[in-house]
Amino acid sequence: LLAADGAVAQTIFAEMTVLANRTGAINLGQGFPDVDGPDYVKEAAKAAIDAGRNQYAPGDGVPELRRAVADHQRRHYGLEVDPDTEVLVTTGATEALTAAILALTGPGDEVITLEPFYDSHAAAIAMAGATHVPVPLTAEGLRLDAGALRSAAGGRTRMIVVNSPHNPTGTVLTPAELEQVAAVARETGAIVLTDEVYEHLVFDDAVHVPLATLPGMAGRTLTVSSAGKTFSLTGWKVGWVHGPAPLITAVRTVKQFLSYSSGAPFQPAIARALADDETPRALAASLAARRDLLCDGLVRAGFDVVRPQGTYFVIADGAPLGFDDGHELCRRLPELAGVVGVPVSAFCRAGSTAAEAMASRVRFTFVKREDVLRDAVDRLARLRR
Ligand code: PMP
Ligand code: GLN
Repeated sequence: LLAADGAVAQTIFAEMTVLANRTGAINLGQGFPDVDGPDYVKEAAKAAIDAGRNQYAPGDGVPELRRAVADHQRRHYGLEVDPDTEVLVTTGATEALTAAILALTGPGDEVITLEPFYDSHAAAIAMAGATHVPVPLTAEGLRLDAGALRSAAGGRTRMIVVNSPHNPTGTVLTPAELEQVAAVARETGAIVLTDEVYEHLVFDDAVHVPLATLPGMAGRTLTVSSAGKTFSLTGWKVGWVHGPAPLITAVRTVKQFLSYSSGAPFQPAIARALADDETPRALAASLAARRDLLCDGLVRAGFDVVRPQGTYFVIADGAPLGFDDGHELCRRLPELAGVVGVPVSAFCRAGSTAAEAMASRVRFTFVKREDVLRDAVDRLARLRR
């Protein structure tokens, strides 16, 4: 099914990480930090293991984590969430997204995503047998094209998938843009699935606004996030989804048969982490500086960049350096510069308008130590010669 849809073969992240490991190039492809999350969170997981929390966790997640998610949403966004009926703990955001799409969409349904889109969104839509309707972001500013969204939506639109802060562009949708999405959802009766894994990683004056906080949206929105990005623990795969009880019940039903339950000792540790607002704040501040380091280096190396307001990714255009094919550039980058990136075309449907607009662009991550980024930008400067 996946191969027939063309949505996935091997993920681009796996392909590029293998390339980095084989060539010894600096891996600015797959997005994971090279400094682990806080010691006290790691200690809490070890303590949970020592305390014997090593058998199956409850299918919907341990109560303290569900409560911590609800507290987090109230504290940061004023959202009231019932931890018993409206929160489901999942194996990373990936499982939450996939279970939601499998539970709520199927053949005959249309699912809108913004394009470029995170690859697992497209794969899950293909697995569900639903029809994927990508709506390109504007080629220049990489922003929502409200007119295109409106013309793509209609009677068959079952779900709109939103991702802000957005991977791979780093775009943070403004309240006005979010309201344009919400209006289309309300008019078509679509459910919104909002992927907010980078909710705390926003820079400058950008503000993350959860879609569920917009008027009339809490009742039709599933909100997904994950501890991986916020607490630099991507390998722990602790995520969650919250939303109205009937939708969460449907997602839980599917999750039972994907994984049944998720990593028991990690859950109480993440429950502790979620009470900590300082760690994500410090990460965002240090990422803003690292973003500037990488963006300035990419510009010096001859790339065009759109400076991101969120996430830990930046898109760089290789066209000014004479590279028109981003995938080809990524295959050659280890040999040309000793660096690995990810082609943005991997986040687009083959042959789409967005794929053409993004053809020469490459995504680099800046969630690496400053010395690593300095080394990377020095190496990338070789491309000019
Ligand atoms: N959504 C987006 C937009 C992502 O970038 C990622 C990758 N971290 C995920 C979901 C998956 O998150 P997790 O590792 O928690 O499954
Ligand atoms: N989310 C990470 C990224 O976008 C990678 C996740 C993965 O390897 N599937 O780079």
